[in-house]
Amino acid sequence: MATDLEIARAATLLPIGDIAARAGIPESALQPYGRYKAKIDSGFVAGQAGAKRGKLVLVTGINPTPAGEGKTTTTIGLGDALNALGTRTMICLREPSLGPCFGVKGGATGGGRAQVGPMEDINLHFTGDFHAITSANNLLSAMVDNHMYWGNELGLDPRRISWRRALDMNDRNLRDLVLGLGGASQGIPREDGFDITVASEVMAVFCLATDLADLQARLGRMIVGQTRDGRSVTARDIKADGAMAALLRDALAPNLVQTLEGSPALVHGGPFANIAHGCNSVVATTLGLTLADVVVTEAGFGADLGAEKFLDIKCTSAGLAPDACVIVATIRALKMHGGVAKSDLGREDVAALRRGVVNLARHVENMGKFGLPVVVALNAFTTDAGEEIAAVQEAMAALGTEAVLCTHWADGGAGATDLACAVQRRLAAGSASFAPLYDAALPLAEKLRTIAREIYRAAEVQIPEPVAARLARFEAQGFGHVPVCVAKTQYSFSADPKRLGAPVGHVLPVREVRLSAGAGFVVAVCGEIMTMPGLPRRPAAESIGLDAAGRIEGLF
Ligand code: ADP
Ligand code: MG
Repeated sequence: MATDLEIARAATLLPIGDIAARAGIPESALQPYGRYKAKIDSGFVAGQAGAKRGKLVLVTGINPTPAGEGKTTTTIGLGDALNALGTRTMICLREPSLGPCFGVKGGATGGGRAQVGPMEDINLHFTGDFHAITSANNLLSAMVDNHMYWGNELGLDPRRISWRRALDMNDRNLRDLVLGLGGASQGIPREDGFDITVASEVMAVFCLATDLADLQARLGRMIVGQTRDGRSVTARDIKADGAMAALLRDALAPNLVQTLEGSPALVHGGPFANIAHGCNSVVATTLGLTLADVVVTEAGFGADLGAEKFLDIKCTSAGLAPDACVIVATIRALKMHGGVAKSDLGREDVAALRRGVVNLARHVENMGKFGLPVVVALNAFTTDAGEEIAAVQEAMAALGTEAVLCTHWADGGAGATDLACAVQRRLAAGSASFAPLYDAALPLAEKLRTIAREIYRAAEVQIPEPVAARLARFEAQGFGHVPVCVAKTQYSFSADPKRLGAPVGHVLPVREVRLSAGAGFVVAVCGEIMTMPGLPRRPAAESIGLDAAGRIEGLF
């Protein structure tokens, strides 16, 4: 089998104007970035606001394992299959971060015959959105330090600056540092650090903003630190919000690209799914809904984190109501949830599969709690055995859920026709009655307990006294109504990455809570959380380069 990059390179992409025409976007609304990428003019986007909206399909997954699940690949395959069946479909995805491209995970443009392109461009600089977000973030940092340098009129306490610098790179050396050294003319010495751009609050704000005015208002609400007497200082107080919005103006226009089969795709924004909500921009999803009959979009990590945040944060914030949900699973990953080691996954093991399918079953049940009809997509690997597939389908049938085998990775959209038909049936039945998991009026700690009880099935949430006091302070500051964004391991329903399957009786320990006032959520940190990843011993970057013709090699 050819590599993803070889398949991508062998495909012939259409001029982006042709893709726009298919999507119902007029030539006059296109801002081409080369031949195969374009931004959609913000005037056109604004003009679409009142248009009739299509149906929204969320693609999510089981708890990830090193065996791979293929949510992005399935989102693309399903979009291609729906378009081939004559349903006008827009695919909405996140933009990849540079860090993982050069680390372990690789890019994020799908795989096999279900990819968006141009693959190299999207995975590397694309249309510069992440550079703009990085610049806006660091402009605020520079203005905060500059404010303190020139007399510190607002009385910021240099020991209480929570705003960190950002870079779209895996660079562990930048996690914690002391800056401003060198004497009186160099700045005020203080501790600081860098987060990867996708973990910055600017990224979360960018993805939740409904338009430029909302973007600037949210940027202005972001808290940069505290005064000595504990008053919060915002980006608005620093007068940075206007210039940050100016830096982000062009970036907020959604990016149009295409799948290898010519389906339109909006690839825009890309927040982390731990410290933030982990899905593409509200602007792109909303635009897609006004253009297409169906939007297929992906949420990061497993459904306990990604889908829960998509539904309770993004959908409630933007007034979106999904119509169906696809949960992606693989036979290999389910066997890992049943206790099989990665090295043994090639061997048929129906018993392990029956043990591991409980992970999928719980996610299916959970999505039902949001009022969403569910279809399971079994993303086929060549090693899957027939009896194993039947065992999953049997377990799902017991829950009244269809599990559809799909081969879009090997066969492109044609391999996801059955999945697309199953989704179409769910949409036609119109049985969705979306409701968020909890009421905005609940106290923050109660929201957290609701997620832990209903989604993670934890027995208890441990909230130490100082953390409870901080939650009370957020409520007193007027942030009691916001949703809670849980940062925990993606590998398990619990906070322990080793507890695979469907653990019960576990305790969710809340280490820390942070207010993202601009994004509009409170982050509950449950376990170790990484906001600046490092590179592995053998980073992917070592194998990336240019061939004699100047083409990029080694990206995956
Ligand atoms: P996710 O979105 O769940 O993180 P991706 O769709 O990005 O996963 O897929 C991760 C990797 O797995 C990609 O490199 C992709 O090519 C590969 N992959 C996905 N589906 C299959 C499959 N059915 N067979 C083999 N490899 C696959
Ligand atoms: Mg993905």
